[in-house]
Amino acid sequence: MGAVKCIGILTSGGDAPGMNAAIRAVTRAAIYNGLGVKGIYRGYKGLVTGEIKEFKSQNVSNIIQLGGTILKTARCKEFTTPEGRQLAYDNMKKEGIDALVIIGGDGSLTGARVFAEEFDVPCIGLPGTIDNDLYGTDTTIGYDTALNTILDAVDKIRDTATSHERLFFVEVMGRDAGFLALNGAIASGAEAAIIPEVSTEVDQLEEFIKNGFRKSKNSSIVLVAESELTGGAMHYAERVKNEYPQYDVRVTILGHLQRGGSPTAHDRILASRLGAAAIDAIMEGQRNVMIGIDHDEVVYVPFVKAIKKNKPIQRELMNVLRELSI
Ligand code: ADP
Repeated sequence: MGAVKCIGILTSGGDAPGMNAAIRAVTRAAIYNGLGVKGIYRGYKGLVTGEIKEFKSQNVSNIIQLGGTILKTARCKEFTTPEGRQLAYDNMKKEGIDALVIIGGDGSLTGARVFAEEFDVPCIGLPGTIDNDLYGTDTTIGYDTALNTILDAVDKIRDTATSHERLFFVEVMGRDAGFLALNGAIASGAEAAIIPEVSTEVDQLEEFIKNGFRKSKNSSIVLVAESELTGGAMHYAERVKNEYPQYDVRVTILGHLQRGGSPTAHDRILASRLGAAAIDAIMEGQRNVMIGIDHDEVVYVPFVKAIKKNKPIQRELMNVLRELSI
């Protein structure tokens, strides 16, 4: 394949605040470097069906502050089949697109990896997910905003928890990663976090109760990561009702409100840096890597590593939470 002249950009999988800032950065950096840009709508679906439009600088004006994604996002079954990916490739060629920038989570980057292996197409991934579960980058686009949304919600829930002297289980997103639950708990002053990373090692509810959560307090908030591994907030509330009927227990599931909203400064800057770096990577002839920020430096992480390697949660944060919630 010769030099890249035109790139295609798409957002795929779960939406995350800051995706628009990333679309803007990729588009503007590409145009700045003399490349053509095509926006592909509804993730891989738009590539398969040919829902593609030329992007100029103005197409991404006034979007840096918006949540969601102006390119829309979708989950696309056809793209998981060789026939679907062939259609996607044919449409790329028809549109004159030589390289792709994919903004999404591990599913979307897995799709990019498969596609890049099948066809000789440079694919660059940007980590776009509130879950922060991609290896090789300190944080993912959307994570910081979701964390701040969680704080806002927990601060409000605490008013009721304190007034009614209740135990609240607040379920947060994160798929099989506990970053939102653990850091959300530390930042909101919650008493505990139940996270998938340690759910097979200890009974986190037992620990929490044994640590004497009621010694000095008459209300408590526990953040629970939604995951099959933890069983979710309802599971723990049921257990408390059965095993410790003396406690007045309630559940709040934050759900999709965690995915929306205007991105924080952190997410806008992250998305802008990653977007510009994606174009640098293409100009350098890089392919099939996710762009990350590691210790404040831009890094290229091979797709296989970003997807397959488990991003470790910092265990000492569990101790910090325990120490500070006495
Ligand atoms: P996320 O990117 O948020 O993890 P998903 O897991 O839903 O979201 O993946 C988004 C899309 O990526 C899927 O709908 C599908 O089109 C594509 N995809 C995921 N896994 C594969 C795969 N193994 N092969 C091809 N495409 C895939």
